Amino acid sequence: MPYNEDRAAWFEGQGLWQHIPETDWRDWIWQLKNRITTVAQLEQLMTLTADEKAGCAHASHKLALAITPYFFNLIDRDDPDCPIRKQVIPRSGEMVISEGEMLDSLGEDAHSPVAGLVHRYPDRVLFLVTDRCAAYCRYCTRSRLVSNAQDYNFHPEYEQGLRYIEAHPEIRDVLLSGGDPLLLSDRKLEHLLARLRAIKHVEFIRIGSRIPVFLPQRITPELAEIFRKYGPIWMSIHVNHPKEATAELKAACERLSFAGVPLGNQSVLLKGVNDDADVMKALVHRLLRMRVRPYYLYQMDLITGGAHFKVDVRKGIEIIQALRGHTTGYAVPQYVIDAPGGGGKVPINPDYIETINEDEIVLKNYEGQTFRYPLRAKPLPAGETGADLGGAVQAVRVTGA
Ligand SMILES: *Cc1c(COP(=O)(O)O)cnc(C)c1O
Repeated sequence: MPYNEDRAAWFEGQGLWQHIPETDWRDWIWQLKNRITTVAQLEQLMTLTADEKAGCAHASHKLALAITPYFFNLIDRDDPDCPIRKQVIPRSGEMVISEGEMLDSLGEDAHSPVAGLVHRYPDRVLFLVTDRCAAYCRYCTRSRLVSNAQDYNFHPEYEQGLRYIEAHPEIRDVLLSGGDPLLLSDRKLEHLLARLRAIKHVEFIRIGSRIPVFLPQRITPELAEIFRKYGPIWMSIHVNHPKEATAELKAACERLSFAGVPLGNQSVLLKGVNDDADVMKALVHRLLRMRVRPYYLYQMDLITGGAHFKVDVRKGIEIIQALRGHTTGYAVPQYVIDAPGGGGKVPINPDYIETINEDEIVLKNYEGQTFRYPLRAKPLPAGETGADLGGAVQAVRVTGA
């Protein structure tokens, strides 16, 4: 059924935790302490499918189970196909390893000069500052180290990372990620940002975080003030489905925006979640209304146990085609494949070029119509004025000739 944006109200949850005082509910520490982390807790709140039960049984060896009460409230417990549910409740598919899947599909460990730092592109680094998240996405690209269910024993060493960045003047862009950097205390975050700001060659600092989506309560005025103080700090949030675009997320995005944080969104194309042009269109429209610019749409990485989420790349291209030209240009993310083994992000685009040669490029527009654009300036034949020339332009041409 197509997702109808007009009919869908801002999703307010089902009030499972109605007996909780408002002050607790709005307290991010309360949300963290009361996360659902065991299958027994989950079964008290909902009926799991056999497939989910099997998935949960293995979660502690793969990627921990954790869901904040706030995010759990967005699940439609009567719908086994709920797109929110699929993102955070393990299924048996997680234990099925398919050909070509890898623990470290992006070759990050090989591009890691010091623990916790990935230096793949010449001018920027990915700085993994924690291995913990507020809740765990079942398609996590970094599940080898995140949540430590696989005994990877990742111990973020900020000092080592900071020293590497200090010693490499070519690094002008630092991306804080993890795990989720916003799980660090205000004090630690402020310390990190202050240290990075003190490095002269670091001109661009950004944070990748799903906390606004899992735990919008964490975006306190105090945290926003830290970003204002050390700004400009850019942020990429991670929203996959319009149901995640709640009033709480909107309020958190406003606190960030008003503190001067430009917001982008990264989605992962996921089977049964957002592999549908109508769903994606509703999502990007809602994002724009929250001052969030869709940045990347990722083809899922070749993570182990990810096949049940996998969408055909041709479907992804079709979704981009359904957006480009049909809606606001700002709403269209760049679809990318992060090349397996560590090639970096490669843009995947619908093909709008029919032919190109020395003389012209033949284009196809969003409606499938064909247009020609000449590549060479050819002089007009003597005596001809050119059909489309306006008077003023013609005058210049005549006097100039
Ligand atoms: C995604 C990524 C970046 C940032 O890439 P942009 O295209 O600049 O957003 C940097 N380093 C690594 C290792 C990455 O995976």
